[in-house]
Amino acid sequence: LSSHGATRHPLSRRRSSLAPFAGRPGGSGAAAPAQTARVLQLRVRAAQIEEVGWGQLVSATGDDGVSCLTFRVMDEQRRHHLLEITLPMNYPACPPSIAADVPYLPKLQWSESSRLKDVLCQFQEHLKVLQDYWSTMDGIDKALWVVDPTKPTYAMSHHRIALGDDCYILLHVDTHKPNSLPECRFLGTDGKLERLIKNWRKNRKRWSADRKFHENLATVLDFALPQPPSVSIKDDQQADCGICYATHLPVDDELGTQSGCAADYKCENPSCSRAFHSVCLRDWLRTITTTRQSFDVLFGNCPYCSEPVAVKSTDS
Ligand SMILES: [Zn+2]
Ligand SMILES: [Zn+2]
Repeated sequence: LSSHGATRHPLSRRRSSLAPFAGRPGGSGAAAPAQTARVLQLRVRAAQIEEVGWGQLVSATGDDGVSCLTFRVMDEQRRHHLLEITLPMNYPACPPSIAADVPYLPKLQWSESSRLKDVLCQFQEHLKVLQDYWSTMDGIDKALWVVDPTKPTYAMSHHRIALGDDCYILLHVDTHKPNSLPECRFLGTDGKLERLIKNWRKNRKRWSADRKFHENLATVLDFALPQPPSVSIKDDQQADCGICYATHLPVDDELGTQSGCAADYKCENPSCSRAFHSVCLRDWLRTITTTRQSFDVLFGNCPYCSEPVAVKSTDS
């Protein structure tokens, strides 16, 4: 996934004004300005990262003047996202390009005075727009038996839901109007599909934006949808964290001993058993007003099954 902002830029003229450097005859005189330009470029980039905050930078790679920076961004509902920003050689005259695990990317607004923090701001705004969509998708994952994808990402708007007897409904949730009647396809050979398709046609007008997605689906199909089977995590299998969806935490000094670690906490409710990074669970619990702290332990509820959970409030 990659999107480019404006292809032509008002500053493109500035590049041609730098041309005399490049056109200079060879020898020692030519290397110095090129080096100076390179140092200047690095300084500009470092200052712009500083403005965003080095703590948000997950990784930085690059060569030949092209840099790829990955920033960690948290949205309103504390979902963690990674935003990859590629700075072209002639940045900031040319706009950066971005990539992220989202169903669609924002169109970057870029001007002469734009900086990295503006990219982050625009991405944050974009995440705000997608909150309803992700809440709907979370609801679907919790209430319905999703067989595909087995590991949904934030970008995926297709879900294949099991209806039992080898029958499935393939849903495409509208990212702009997530709680509206989705596009769907029925898959399977069992006779009961015919009845469900008939119900869908007959009842589709009864879909209401005020009801939860899975309730709407059950109403329109006039059918009790099977519950998701309880998820159990095999000990030998590394589980993704239920909050950040990553297997391993990023490698980051700020995370101390937890840097790069796998999920180290499991919900004790056997029908949930969701895995978490204790760091993520702690951050999550701190945002919930009903969480209580006693000495250095936070007491709250599992974000998946609402059963009580307890996690240390510090690493020690
Ligand atoms: Zn996590
Ligand atoms: Zn749980």
